[in-house]
Amino acid sequence: ALKAGIVGLPNVGKSTLFNAITQAGAESANYPFCTIDPNVGVVEVPDERLQKLAEIVVPNRIVPTAFEFVDIAGLVKGASKGEGLGNKFLAHIREVDAIVHVVRCFQDENITHVSGKVNPIDDIETINLELILADLDSVEKRIDRSRKNMKSGDKKYAAEVECLEKIKEALLTDKPARSVELSDEEKLLIRDLHLLTIKPVLYAANVSEAEAGNADGNPYVQLVREYAAKEGAEVVPISAKVESEIAELEGEDREMFLEELGLKESGLDRLIRAAYKLLGLYTYFTAGVQEVRAWTIRQGTKAPQAAAVIHTDFERGFIRAEVVSYEDLVAAGSMNAAKEKGQLRLEGKDYVVQDGDVMHFRFNV
Ligand code: GDP
Repeated sequence: ALKAGIVGLPNVGKSTLFNAITQAGAESANYPFCTIDPNVGVVEVPDERLQKLAEIVVPNRIVPTAFEFVDIAGLVKGASKGEGLGNKFLAHIREVDAIVHVVRCFQDENITHVSGKVNPIDDIETINLELILADLDSVEKRIDRSRKNMKSGDKKYAAEVECLEKIKEALLTDKPARSVELSDEEKLLIRDLHLLTIKPVLYAANVSEAEAGNADGNPYVQLVREYAAKEGAEVVPISAKVESEIAELEGEDREMFLEELGLKESGLDRLIRAAYKLLGLYTYFTAGVQEVRAWTIRQGTKAPQAAAVIHTDFERGFIRAEVVSYEDLVAAGSMNAAKEKGQLRLEGKDYVVQDGDVMHFRFNV
């Protein structure tokens, strides 16, 4: 499953947020393939389309798709030089697909700020610098190695050096690797370096409880927004404290609490959605009487690989898929009606699955 790593300086609210995530936690029996690890929180991805599909199919149960957050605590200034538990944390970041960078935007004199005062831009730059320095180290090592390998005459190494030099130049001016435009071939060449600053990032601006419903009134949030805009990154204002309270509530109590705060949905749901979007993820559905269920794929995934998300046997024995788009199915009102309208398509192994496709796989066992 795809994962987003939660990073940030100490005392910014990471654990509070992570606890809210695990509190809100998904029913793990539904997600046996998810990682079992105290530092991993599995959340369900909210999706209104599931309810609509359930009205049509009337299944025994509804299962949303899941998403994992990893708590990567302990990143401090000097991490790239091995300070604190530096290298270990950097290694954890290598394993995630996206980064959720928690930034402190709340004032509280009782809670020490590592650098003495609340300054979200400084905080962001401190963390980013550590990641940039770590990447610079990986890039320089690889450049040396590829230069030596160039003597073999294999053109691949020259291309690699050229690409790495571009990245190095960006890193030397404190810019992340993701700011460098790379072709698909170049991305492939450097993929195994697992650069930290090439991963997509979103900033979670942690505001105080009082500001939960009107986070944009917080001047620090505005600063983070300006900073993120320059990077083309997303900002999700959130109150980690409030989220931990929301996570304890269910049903009507939850609705009422959100309403009191002036929120349409929890910050956590917004965060999940933003992370999902950041990763370029699509959802497809299966809809049977047993269950209506959502599944996550990357954009561009073909039918057999999409089937593999359910079970690897589905990919191996893939014959074809019956597909109807969510919109068509809802408009038709039933699977049969969609079929009569010719909206139920038969697709082969090259079909690229679209967001909202309702799929039924045919396969050999
Ligand atoms: P971490 O070191 O980044 O994991 O930070 P924690 O989640 O442990 O939070 C550090 C301290 O800040 C804890 O005492 C939290 O209760 C407190 N804290 C977190 N979020 C908020 C907030 O929105 N408002 C206030 N007043 N305190 C918060």
